[in-house]
Amino acid sequence: MNVFRRGMASVASLKQAGKVVCIGRNYADHITELNSARPQQPFFFLKPTSSLLLPGAGPVIRPRGVDLHYEVELALILGKDVKDLDANDEKGALDAIENYALSIDMTARNIQNEAKKKGLPWSIAKGFDTFLPIGAPIAKAAIPDPHAIELYLTVNGEPRQADSTELMLFRIPRILSDISRVMALRKGDIVLTGTPKGVGPVVPGDVMRAGIRVAGRELDDARIEVRVEESTSDYIYAET
Ligand code: MG
Repeated sequence: MNVFRRGMASVASLKQAGKVVCIGRNYADHITELNSARPQQPFFFLKPTSSLLLPGAGPVIRPRGVDLHYEVELALILGKDVKDLDANDEKGALDAIENYALSIDMTARNIQNEAKKKGLPWSIAKGFDTFLPIGAPIAKAAIPDPHAIELYLTVNGEPRQADSTELMLFRIPRILSDISRVMALRKGDIVLTGTPKGVGPVVPGDVMRAGIRVAGRELDDARIEVRVEESTSDYIYAET
């Protein structure tokens, strides 16, 4: 198969995402580092598709007044509609995935902390434009077991996150099952599976690099490299 054409088709599919559903608190050490409570069921929130930063695009824009954090995550790109999936249907879950991708769930941590305290939604904290850099779609064959790969992220070459997806508290079939019982997942939708420990701030001028290792080998096409820049908009975040 022509690799170039396959890549083009896949990037086009990212633009067709109707929604992006993100699992929160899915790695125990990340829950600890943010002093969050461990969920008894998977919980999730939405990022707008307007926050997507397509493969190779950049920079990530830091709005003024924002403490901007990175969260590296494995993304699932759905190839079919899913509704009321059985949590034990591992084959059904994996069959519903068309491609994997690497993603960074950029988060305005100060806004999120305020929202948590006041019981407000996370839409602002998670939803700014450019807050979802995503890598090129990865063929499923390149990831034989999505629960046994390493995700990593560096800032200016310094290692910040590096953990195996085997540490997920809720695995992919359970995640897709729980989401699909609330909202139908459609072909093209993107699901983020949570971030491991090591989240932290980035500032204008920083360069984030993220990747996936399968059995210790880097997936070259999966990589993200993106710079952070300060917003030139007159928007400044102010406490709600
Ligand atoms: Mg996240």
